[in-house]
Amino acid sequence: MNPIVIVGTGLAGYNTARELRKLDREVPLVIVSADAAGFYSKPMLSNALAAGKTAHQLVIKAAAAMREELRATLIERTSVAALDAATHRIRADARDIAYSKLVLALGADPIRLALAGDGAGAVMSVNDLDDYARFRAGIGAGRRVAVLGAGLIGCEFANDLALAGYSVDVADIADQPLARLLPPGLADAMRDALAAAGVRWHLGKRAAALNKRGAALLLCFDDGTEIETDSVLSAVGLAPRTSLARIAGLAVNRGIVVDRFLRSSDPDIYALGDCAEVDRQVLPFVMPIMHASRALACTLTGKDKAVAYPAMPVVVKTPALPTVVCAPAPGASGSWQIETLEGGAAARYVDGAGRLLGFALTGAACAMKNRLLTEMPPARPD
Ligand SMILES: Cc1cc2nc3c(=O)[nH]c(=O)nc-3n(C[C@H](O)[C@H](O)[C@H](O)COP(=O)(O)OP(=O)(O)OC[C@H]3O[C@@H](n4cnc5c(N)ncnc54)[C@H](O)[C@@H]3O)c2cc1C
Repeated sequence: MNPIVIVGTGLAGYNTARELRKLDREVPLVIVSADAAGFYSKPMLSNALAAGKTAHQLVIKAAAAMREELRATLIERTSVAALDAATHRIRADARDIAYSKLVLALGADPIRLALAGDGAGAVMSVNDLDDYARFRAGIGAGRRVAVLGAGLIGCEFANDLALAGYSVDVADIADQPLARLLPPGLADAMRDALAAAGVRWHLGKRAAALNKRGAALLLCFDDGTEIETDSVLSAVGLAPRTSLARIAGLAVNRGIVVDRFLRSSDPDIYALGDCAEVDRQVLPFVMPIMHASRALACTLTGKDKAVAYPAMPVVVKTPALPTVVCAPAPGASGSWQIETLEGGAAARYVDGAGRLLGFALTGAACAMKNRLLTEMPPARPD
């Protein structure tokens, strides 16, 4: 019998393998990864600098130990370049690997801004351990770093860099940080808290060019203003890795299109995690991956199970202003009601009947998370 093959050893690939092994200790399993296949928690990447952690120290379990734990053939540092759905085979460097069922857990690529200038090639992004190792080495000690993007990852890096002693500028075309997650009142509090931690904001500005100026870099905005810095970190978003699936003829939209069973347009190919668009949603966060991998493991062992998402809060790891967001579902219709509390604020997103559809909490109000979760609508049934 051909093995189940998983491509990718991020949280999606490894959690699927772990959940599968809870249900079936014997089914042959092959895991292929373009990286070194150490198990790590990606969210740690944006608060590891201040803690003084190297990339090596972030590895929770090395590839050899994962191979043993999962009773799998683990092929690391090997890219899958082609997939043939008709013959059930993938091409991984020089090898041809046959599969019975294939799981694509390919993650996403950092989006690169189209910047002009002779310094544009110096822009870094951090989306895996190798990136983090390069970034840590590239920024030197206690120098200037400009962060492009004031979303979750940009704000977390800004706070971490400031705590680690760097001089930090953050730029975004939006007028507020965390523009897609927080209502304006809470976003203002995040802006002020990070400013108090040393972050200089350049909001409502579009980065246009990065030029070399001696050993430094000059970041130029489209309003004619500029700032000098030593390094630039881009955190402007991620694009699901879809090219392998697209070339193989699978349905692809923003991500690899799968249904609630994580099944693609080919009945023996599944996808989850940052590369996947599950039932029209791309949810590049840890909790959706945990729910999806549990459901997928059941399906892979012959008991079809649809993923059902409960309310899934995301913790924004900004010690300057601890924040938790439980975003309303896409298309939800309601309005924000903001309450200022001692040492924080609570924003509730409610519909016309007063039902809670989402929330955002800052500071001391984060303690309300568990209570508000009980008020949220239950997971959509399987
Ligand atoms: C800095 C940062 C902080 C974050 N913080 C949070 C947080 O606080 N909370 C939260 O919920 N989420 C957070 N996230 C998001 C969360 O970490 C991701 O959603 C999750 O880790 C994605 O896991 P994944 O397995 O889908 O992708 P990845 O971890 O990117 O794994 C993809 C895997 O596929 C492999 N691969 C890709 N292409 C190929 C190929 N062709 N052949 C072979 N292998 C291939 C890669 O080598 C890798 O092993 C954060 C993300 C970042 C970048």
